[in-house]
Amino acid sequence: MQKIDFQEFLQKDRECSCKKVHRCDIETILISRDALQKVPELIKQQEYQKICIIEDNNTKQVAGDLLEKILKEQDIFPKRICFDDVFLIPDEAALGRIITEIDRETDLILAVGSGTLNDLCKFISYQLKMDYYIIATAPSMDGYASNVAPLISNHAKVTYEVSMPRAIIGDLSILKEAPMNMIAAGVGDVLGKYVCLMDWKMSHIVTGEYYCTEVVKLVEQAIDKVMQGTDKLALRDEDAILSIMEGLILSGIGMSYIGNSRPASGSEHHLSHYWEMMALLSNGHIELHGTKVAIGTVIGLRLYEKFFQDLGIADSYHAFQSAEPEFHPEQWSAEIRRVYLGAADSVIALENTSKKNAPEEMKRRKEALLNQRDLLQIEVKKLPKADQIIKILKLLSAKSTPEEVGVSEETLRDSILYAKELRNRFGILQVLTDFGLQDAYAEEIIEYFRSVK
Ligand SMILES: [Zn+2]
Ligand SMILES: [Zn+2]
Repeated sequence: MQKIDFQEFLQKDRECSCKKVHRCDIETILISRDALQKVPELIKQQEYQKICIIEDNNTKQVAGDLLEKILKEQDIFPKRICFDDVFLIPDEAALGRIITEIDRETDLILAVGSGTLNDLCKFISYQLKMDYYIIATAPSMDGYASNVAPLISNHAKVTYEVSMPRAIIGDLSILKEAPMNMIAAGVGDVLGKYVCLMDWKMSHIVTGEYYCTEVVKLVEQAIDKVMQGTDKLALRDEDAILSIMEGLILSGIGMSYIGNSRPASGSEHHLSHYWEMMALLSNGHIELHGTKVAIGTVIGLRLYEKFFQDLGIADSYHAFQSAEPEFHPEQWSAEIRRVYLGAADSVIALENTSKKNAPEEMKRRKEALLNQRDLLQIEVKKLPKADQIIKILKLLSAKSTPEEVGVSEETLRDSILYAKELRNRFGILQVLTDFGLQDAYAEEIIEYFRSVK
């Protein structure tokens, strides 16, 4: 597969058929075997004076020390802030530590890491108005090129708008040595695009939500990139690693083109966010983002498969058609308080402003979906089956069931019912509520995972 020339996406206005002008303000994306060696040159070109490396104990060893050596050889002497947490959480404490230690005159942050370090540094970069480069140490998630960062604020996951990196540096000799579970997580984050693109397409068809076919093509290209390399990944094939990294970055560019995460995050991400919140609330173990997204993808695909299959059966179709959508605010609020605990207020506030569960809204969406079912059916048929995703995950020795990521059947059931309440974003989980199928389908998913054990 051809290597992507990222330069064509960067720092130029792209007038689009969706009538928007898309732009991605990253200056340099460099994914190659010797990418780390090019960092001093970039720094000198931009005349940065005061550099700060932010890393953790792991990334220090795999890239931070080497980076410092390369910089010093070119008379660049960075300050270093190193986290020694076993599980670094992107919360107020971590942000506070950076703010306390970083020199005010810093004009460039070099974030050495992947998920959490990237999120922390892009937020700090935005708040303190300091540029940053991300030196990627694992192809584990698609947040490198995105302008949003999920952080933990007051124990809840909140997505903030943040700075884009000035440069993304991916040294393949480092990336290919990343732990296999992190590589598999990157694959999972991209596989999730099957569900989120379908959610977006369906929302466009059913609710008339804005949609951009060019960006969809870009994200589909990301999926293709990753799908082509999965069989060679277990061998850490350099081309396959490159493909994954390219796919992850493309997906990030897609988000930055739209200005939010719509092209890269749908029901599969809502499930993952929900599980993560529950793990945080119970001080449980936090799994890698992409690992959970992959399992959310299995669920999303299974729900699409089942719903549209049922819709094609005359009896269920008539039952679906005649069922009146119901919403009982008091009962619903009590449920939200039960599952979301301390984070319930913001979830209830979102419903009060969005009215996404109002019966008249549900009814309108339901009718529109039934009217467009043939068109939607065609799109759903193009999706891979849930079983196929499980097969890929197993090939990568990755976790593939909720149980393996510490999600009990009860939490799984609650997530299918209530994960969608975290956002006002129409997708397959909302369809279940609109058609009154949430309980029955949650049971079906629980049964499904019992059967694939
Ligand atoms: Zn567009
Ligand atoms: Zn993601």
